[in-house]
Amino acid sequence: MSLTETAPEVPAWRLLLGYVRPHRRALFGGALLALATGATGLLLPLVARGLIDDLSHDRPIGRALLGMAALVVTNAAVGALGSYVLRRTAESVVLGARRTLSSYLLRLRIPAVDRSEPGDLMARITSDTTLLREVTTDSLVGLGTGGLTLVATVVMMGLVDMVLLGVTLGVVLCAGTVLGLIVPRINRASRRAQDAVGAMGASLERTLGALRTVKASGAEHREERNVHAAAEESWRQSVRAARWSAAAGNTAGLAMQVAFITVLAVGGARVATGAVHVGTLVAFLLYVFYLMSPIQQVVGAVTQYQSGAAALARIQEALRLPAEPAAPPAPLPAPDAEPASLAFEDVRFRYADDLPYVHHGMTFAVPARGLTAFVGPSGAGKTTVFSLIERFYEPEAGVISVDGLPLDAWELPRLRSAIGYVEQDAPVLSGSLRDNLLLGNPEAGEGELTRVLGTTRLDGLVARLPNGLDTLVGHRGTKLSGGERQRVAIARALLRRPRLLLLDEATSQLDAVNEAALRDTVADVARTTTVLVVAHRLSTVTSADRIVVMDAGRVRAVGTHRELVEADPLYAELAATQFLATAG
Ligand code: ADP
Ligand code: MG
Repeated sequence: MSLTETAPEVPAWRLLLGYVRPHRRALFGGALLALATGATGLLLPLVARGLIDDLSHDRPIGRALLGMAALVVTNAAVGALGSYVLRRTAESVVLGARRTLSSYLLRLRIPAVDRSEPGDLMARITSDTTLLREVTTDSLVGLGTGGLTLVATVVMMGLVDMVLLGVTLGVVLCAGTVLGLIVPRINRASRRAQDAVGAMGASLERTLGALRTVKASGAEHREERNVHAAAEESWRQSVRAARWSAAAGNTAGLAMQVAFITVLAVGGARVATGAVHVGTLVAFLLYVFYLMSPIQQVVGAVTQYQSGAAALARIQEALRLPAEPAAPPAPLPAPDAEPASLAFEDVRFRYADDLPYVHHGMTFAVPARGLTAFVGPSGAGKTTVFSLIERFYEPEAGVISVDGLPLDAWELPRLRSAIGYVEQDAPVLSGSLRDNLLLGNPEAGEGELTRVLGTTRLDGLVARLPNGLDTLVGHRGTKLSGGERQRVAIARALLRRPRLLLLDEATSQLDAVNEAALRDTVADVARTTTVLVVAHRLSTVTSADRIVVMDAGRVRAVGTHRELVEADPLYAELAATQFLATAG
């Protein structure tokens, strides 16, 4: 089973159409209403002419006034409805893009997460998607309605006089060439502006995520400078984009003035030679005048599209990061499910092609049930063993199997639903204590919850807190002590009723009393399930059924405490120093 999936690369406009497609009817309806608003606006001069005629012929003006009032009200109502429908549709497009992107980012593979800045990914969901709003309404609708009006006007011009149409199109073509030079610059500046917004997000995330350390290091000013630099870069690039957009808009305006004058000159000469009537020339000039608004609209649509395309490219980039395939969540194993067995066979692994190997052919087997401890110096690759079991990373060679089945053959959600994992730094998420505990098993009953609170000795804490389980724990659990955070993480893992429990230095911050209590709990759990611990204290290890001694990415020795003290000098040394120096 392939673990990686990426979205296919498509041009920005196809990506946009993908987001717009579900809303095409509403968008079309909105565009029609916008056209109708324009049309009712165009009727107004005719009704006004009727009114003036009635006045000058001493006829009653009631009907004309009524007609005018009706037209004005209709115009306003249709206009309001049209802009509401368009805006609503645009918001739906933004919502669709945000849904797609956030679902995708939650499925990112861990190596892709290692390489990305969360703040920048966040900006892609929050800021870049926002730009799709204008692209949908201004660009798509502007291009549609403006283009339609443009074609209609050009057809009318052709009917009036082909020669003058040729002159006009010649000028428009020259302007088009200039615009062709300007437009890519808008795109480039917009892209840089959005990248800078991403960099600002990354910068902010780094600073706010560690504000205590930043303050304690007296680094506020330097961090401030980084955030400001990104904000200023975004400003600079946006201003550049604005400059080119203004140039584009006014190039179009200038072109129309030039067309007007050229038509006047050429047409005037043709009137002088008798080739065309004055009336024809006047009508044509009126059309040149009419051409102005749709051309501005189309140019506006194209320039607006450039910033949207830059945002779409950034969204597309995020969608092309390697992700795990979408799969429905797997149910947790039944409470009486058999514990899992585990084996590593000659596993070689490195985090990237340009990094040294972390595991140089790791081999060990863990039978179902019992406590297995991993010990070894910091950097030996203990945490990496757990990451590989969770399939956060893929080994380069060798086979890891759970229940005798290679990980490749496991459906990812099913594999992970069998495992309870307490990470080395025992993260707690913001939200309530209850949210945190039930994260891995929202269906856990009150009885089970109470029991686990007891075994992890969290019951005292919960009783002390004014809001009990509903107390908010702050960002990354800052309102809890380090030891409390670890116990919350252990309780969370236990509530998953795991067939395989992975504890990575999970009790390193506990005091002696809590540590001893949890050691008993873990020993208890190990009677019915398979428990792997990365141990930091000798006391955890002496009671383990087997100890895997790791050094520099290899298994040095496997055995019980008694055996290893005799047989392995490294272990004997670690044991002598009580493991205190090995936390890592
Ligand atoms: P231990 O838990 O035994 O202290 P780890 O498994 O955490 O060791 O790390 C083993 C080696 O891999 C270390 O040299 C560490 O720097 C490196 N390492 C750990 N995680 C990553 C990562 N995400 N990317 C690159 N290198 C990593
Ligand atoms: Mg570690």
